[in-house]
Amino acid sequence: MPTIRSVSEVATAIRTHEGAGFPVRRPFPSRTLLDVDPFLLLDEMGPADHGPGEAKGAPDHPHRGFETVTYMLAGGMQHMDSAGNSGRIGPGDVQWMTAGSGVIHSEMPVKEIMQKGGRQHGFQLWVNLPKKDKMTAPRYQEIPAAKIPVGRKDGVAVRVIAGEALGAKAVIDTKTPIQYLHATLQPGASWEQAVGPEFRAFVYVFSGEADVAGKRRVKDGQLAVIGNDGDAVAVSNPGPVPAEVLVVAGVPLGEPVARYGPFVMNTDEEIEQAFKDYQAGRFVRKA
Ligand code: MN
Repeated sequence: MPTIRSVSEVATAIRTHEGAGFPVRRPFPSRTLLDVDPFLLLDEMGPADHGPGEAKGAPDHPHRGFETVTYMLAGGMQHMDSAGNSGRIGPGDVQWMTAGSGVIHSEMPVKEIMQKGGRQHGFQLWVNLPKKDKMTAPRYQEIPAAKIPVGRKDGVAVRVIAGEALGAKAVIDTKTPIQYLHATLQPGASWEQAVGPEFRAFVYVFSGEADVAGKRRVKDGQLAVIGNDGDAVAVSNPGPVPAEVLVVAGVPLGEPVARYGPFVMNTDEEIEQAFKDYQAGRFVRKA
């Protein structure tokens, strides 16, 4: 029998704006929850209904030292970078970008949403890279919704973005072991997910509510940090409407974190170097 892991704390997302001014709910980082090693940030973008010309994105900005993972639920994002890569992701699609040594990119709502308006809803997760991989070459993986497997049991459907759940296995290749699961639980449904004690884990509820570890009620916009005292995460839906949750787990790096805006390194000197390299135009350029 698996041992169910407890909840060590529950954080409520703050509402803020990112990029050129799009609304996000941000469970971390905050003053009280700096990170959930190896995860540095989780932003829920929207859901926001935009009129024509209202949608905003994040124009050109750099990243170094970590990965950004974008998962869209509604609407779409258009991506372009300094190395000449571009792509667009729509509902259910994932972009897993390893910034590594550095990219300058823009993340903007797709043209149709910009022009005609519409709903934008999605997530961005920042995954830290270990010291040995921080200066790795940038890499993109784009996974269309059709390639994201869904594990199912009674009243539970789990989209497996990374890792494995209910017999479904993700196609993504991650630098460090990661589980990234989006589960929909119908009223009364429950689910136990194997998450080994070597993983740090959190559960974020973004619609309805969930009981985590059997008894801790987690509401819409709250994140439960999971304790390291077992080998499974238990989620159930006590409410009258479906519950939507992310269950995310990764092996902690246990390394010093120096972060400043879009750069996440191990030391302050490396942050200064990142600024120097960025300002001197030494981030990756189109050949
Ligand atoms: Mn970015």
